[in-house]
Formats: sequence, C-alpha cells, structure tokens
Amino acid sequence: MEFEDLYQEIILDHYRKPRNICEGDDTGHICVKHENPLCGDELSLHMKMNRNDTIKDICYRARGCSISISSASIMTEAVKGLKKNEAMELIETVRRMMHGEVVGDGLGDIEALQGVAKFPVRVKCALLAWMALKDALQSPYRQR
Ligand code: ZN
Repeated sequence: MEFEDLYQEIILDHYRKPRNICEGDDTGHICVKHENPLCGDELSLHMKMNRNDTIKDICYRARGCSISISSASIMTEAVKGLKKNEAMELIETVRRMMHGEVVGDGLGDIEALQGVAKFPVRVKCALLAWMALKDALQSPYRQR
C-alpha cells in the first residue's frame, strides 16, 4: 500500500467513525467554537482539565468536510491525557507540518494529515480543531 493510500484510509476511518463526539451536557467544560468560513466547517470543542494541568476530557461537535471532522477526531484522540505544555507543543508541530515542514514520525494518526499540506485550501480545514484546542488551552478556567 502506498503511503498516500494509507493516509487516505486513516482520514476516512476517522471521518466515518469519529472519536470523542460529545455526549450529554458540557457542564464544567471549557467550550470554544471555531469556524472556517472558507469551507463552511464549524467546530465546538469542549474540554476539562485535571488539577495537574492535564487534559482530562475532550469532545467536540462538528459540521463540515471530511478533513475537518477527521482532524478533530485525530486531535482529540492524540491529546487526551497530555499536559497543557505537551499539547501546545503538539499543536505547533502540527501547524509546522501543515505548512510543509518535515516534522519526523512517531505522531501516529496525525501523520495522515501530512497529505493535506499539499492542498493549501484544505489546510485551514485540517487546522481548525488544533486552533480550537489552542484557544481552549489558553482560556481561563477553574481547576477541578
Ligand atoms: Zn473543510
């Protein structure tokens, strides 16, 4: 299997079976809403932090293209349990990757998003969830 096909498969898998869709209420969550008007993607991200500054719980509701949905699914899976600073580093890595930098491997499903960097109009779709996460991590919140 070519790498391109493999990446495509991973993205489709997350699109068809998105992980971490919000269920129930968002009480106590940090909530942010981001949009990508260029494509019509909408994402609301809900997150809870642990006392020790790790991401305890993260979920989202989204409407949009396959890239934006699968990126949100991949992102939430990747960052659950990470410390705030680790998550911020990962966001920066993904941002650099989406601008065509080679960032190495070991990123799991995130690597599948690399293929999107070749399509500049879709980069904003792929980065939507990551920018929402950055916003959420920088929001003032009460520790629980
Ligand atoms: Zn999109």
